[in-house]
Amino acid sequence: MESWRILLTDGLQDVGIEILAKETHVDDHDGVSAQDLVKEIGEYDAMIVRGRTKVTREIIEAGKKLKVIGRSGVGVDNIDIAAAQDKGIIVVNAPSSTSTAVAELAMGLIFALAREIPRADAAAKHGEWLKKGLMGIELYGKTLGIIGFGRIGSTVGKMAAAAGMHILAYDIFTTPEAVKMVGGELLAVDEIIMKSDFITIHTPLTDETRGMINAKAISQMKDGVYIICTARGGIIDEKALLEALNSGKVAGAALDVFEVEPSTNKELINHPRVIVTPHIGGQTHEAQRRASIDIAGEVLAALKGNQLHWRVI
Ligand code: NAD
Repeated sequence: MESWRILLTDGLQDVGIEILAKETHVDDHDGVSAQDLVKEIGEYDAMIVRGRTKVTREIIEAGKKLKVIGRSGVGVDNIDIAAAQDKGIIVVNAPSSTSTAVAELAMGLIFALAREIPRADAAAKHGEWLKKGLMGIELYGKTLGIIGFGRIGSTVGKMAAAAGMHILAYDIFTTPEAVKMVGGELLAVDEIIMKSDFITIHTPLTDETRGMINAKAISQMKDGVYIICTARGGIIDEKALLEALNSGKVAGAALDVFEVEPSTNKELINHPRVIVTPHIGGQTHEAQRRASIDIAGEVLAALKGNQLHWRVI
């Protein structure tokens, strides 16, 4: 057995720990504080985090033996990538592990918006039989605009096409052929915004996508549009969305991600035409199992100097 030591700071499913423990020494310090992490990290060759741990420059610089940082999941916005790069530390993630889970949540939110399922459920439980007041719309024949046609966006495209939706997509890299595979069309973002009945966001949060769905973009959308975001908080300008919900321009929104998490935007999350989930996109047993297997394999490969599938830097 190698003498490598691996620190888990946000837990990991047993299956991943078992893979690592066959070849390394693993310490599970789930929930460790930033101060304790700075003190402990010097003893470890690798660390594996989820979204909770903020891997700051201070932590990276204290990691005298640190060779690899693994993110069990996709987003690496909680890791100071520049600091890792300066120290020659490899950063790996498990980007495809949660794609199905997030796509299924996005589809679930689209269905829930169209039929007001959360409102129907809450009312029935409070003794209100809303039947006549709950006139929904069908997805069949409606246009779904997908902004970001990567792993998750393209999976949503396949699922929505099966429900009879017309698919329009905008993506800076994807080819028209990839969108044609789901019977859809690759268009400019303005066209997606103007033509869609439902708009779902699946890009990363970058300088270009921050605030992409702002007051100007919303003003160009169809009246009564529905907006879904399971990507990252900050892509939608929450103030502009709230105004558009209040004016009736936006018929409904479903959000899994927020500018601040847990969200403090009470007016938005309590809005009767907003469906809120607390960043649960990747929270399925299957996705977390896949993520733990993928990241364990990838961190071991990095320590051994083997070929990597998901190297961030
Ligand atoms: P991906 O990299 O496979 O796809 C993202 C796509 O966005 C790519 O095709 C890329 O070309 C495109 N893109 C990037 N910048 C763009 C821009 N400016 N305009 C248009 N398109 C642009 O990523 P993915 O795995 O599909 O993940 C998509 C998003 O979902 C990410 O933000 C990720 O963080 C988020 N996510 C959320 C959860 C959750 O729990 N809600 C879980 C996993 C991933």
